[in-house]
Amino acid sequence: MENFNIAYHCTTKQCQAGLGDKVAMRWISSTFERRDYTFGEMDQLSNRFANVLQTLGVQAGQVIFTFLPKTPEQFTAFLGSLKAECITGTLFSNFGDDALLDRLGASEAQLVVTRKSLYRKIARIRDQLPALRTVILTDVAEDLSADVLSWERLMETASDEFAIPVTAPDTPSVLHYTSGSTGKPKGVLHCHRSILQQSRTAREVLGLQANDLFWCTADQGWVTGTSYGIIGPWSLGVTQLHIGGGYSPQQWFELLQNERITVWYTAPTALRMLMREDQMAYSEFDLTHLRSIFSVGEPLNPEVIVWGRDTLQKEIYDTWFQTETGAIMIANRPGIPIRPGSMGTPLPGIEPGILADDGASLPNGEHGNLCVRAGWDSMFRTYLNNDSAYASKFRDGWYYTGDMAWRDNDGYYWFLGRSDDVINTSGHLVSPFEVESALLELPEIAESGVIGAPDDLLFEKVVAFVNFHPGTEFTPELDLKIRLHIANRLSSVAIPQEVVPVETVPKNKSGKIMRRVLKARYLGLDTGDISTLED
Ligand code: AMP
Repeated sequence: MENFNIAYHCTTKQCQAGLGDKVAMRWISSTFERRDYTFGEMDQLSNRFANVLQTLGVQAGQVIFTFLPKTPEQFTAFLGSLKAECITGTLFSNFGDDALLDRLGASEAQLVVTRKSLYRKIARIRDQLPALRTVILTDVAEDLSADVLSWERLMETASDEFAIPVTAPDTPSVLHYTSGSTGKPKGVLHCHRSILQQSRTAREVLGLQANDLFWCTADQGWVTGTSYGIIGPWSLGVTQLHIGGGYSPQQWFELLQNERITVWYTAPTALRMLMREDQMAYSEFDLTHLRSIFSVGEPLNPEVIVWGRDTLQKEIYDTWFQTETGAIMIANRPGIPIRPGSMGTPLPGIEPGILADDGASLPNGEHGNLCVRAGWDSMFRTYLNNDSAYASKFRDGWYYTGDMAWRDNDGYYWFLGRSDDVINTSGHLVSPFEVESALLELPEIAESGVIGAPDDLLFEKVVAFVNFHPGTEFTPELDLKIRLHIANRLSSVAIPQEVVPVETVPKNKSGKIMRRVLKARYLGLDTGDISTLED
């Protein structure tokens, strides 16, 4: 049987093909230290980590997570864990205590690779994580205790040879948690077969070629960061740039120019932020080697495409996918005329449909649920430990994405919004339910309702309506306390941009928060039928 192991394809196979000395990752730290890692080094380092996992008794099929900012260990731990056939999750390094507890608890994670400063968050909840046996810290030279171990020490003594098992295509691989509008986040589980679509789209959409230097700005905590910040390009033997620092307009353009990046994959909010940098002299940067720019995560508004053409003399291609689809499904791409504002056309072998709520297929021009015919290679295999939620996403052979869209007569797809209340703020999905629950932990708050409202920069901003307990005064200090609480509990992306005090939060007779009504009121629109509101 052919070996489907993702990490085998990203490292060992590249070495076997003669690319052992080729740079796989150009690493630039937040303090501008540079280090090139060859495919050979990535292979050996990930082999070492696979051996570390086996020495620690972690079995194939068990869950391990990285909880790291962008650091080289993020990549070697991810690949090593896949070599050992573990289920490999990545946690956004900005997550707070509740977000961590939900994900580490529900997945029964056995092991986490993190840093000392981030471990403090896990230490606070560790007594609620009985399955978590081992923590590895990438920035300590010695073990801290019997189960908080030093990466350096473990890696030093591990062998750099590892016999990667011949991995079947349906073997579970990558795990990403995604937020819904109700309940806890769900663990989207993929399998090794997903590499087929990730590799194909890296070649056919992003157009990656042997001599490219590819830069994907997404954090590895999200699906774009693993599907295209690790798997797709390395499966093709393409060199990637990764940087430790955050968003910085000047630095980003210097990198594009000086590193001679050829293909750049980023997000609309970042592009809109760059558009606003009017003091930036874009014309002074030489971007002649940059072949194309791609975007994902939120709608790419036509103004950004026009800015790309006018200011950078580049096309910006929008692509659409989500955690559950694992890889790009619909895209604008070189060779096919861009319709600004449209997500593009489906990829070969991918069959999207626009379906009514009753499952009827809708003709071109009509608005409906964006669905994908089940069975594509990077289709998620379940929501971990929640098969019923998985089943509820499929009907008559169609997967319901949760997005609303329409198709024009030439087969281009146009995004309309979500069919649920999930908020998309700067490309991050935020669950209103999670924010509402976290707000209720504050003693000052009696009720809360959270919505996403349109925002010029972030696409949507988080707006929290709160009913304070009698006698509570809404002061700037309380406003700050609320924001810090959400950052500490969930993450900085979930922080409400606005906190609006209200007398009551509208609910229906069964107690469900009527976010639709809150949103309409906030936007000054007709609140529609509110006959089901509680008295
Ligand atoms: P996630 O699963 O966190 O990657 O988020 C996926 C969601 O982001 C999709 O279901 C869409 O709602 C949104 N999204 C992703 N790409 C696009 C795009 N190109 N245009 C509009 N929305 C997008």
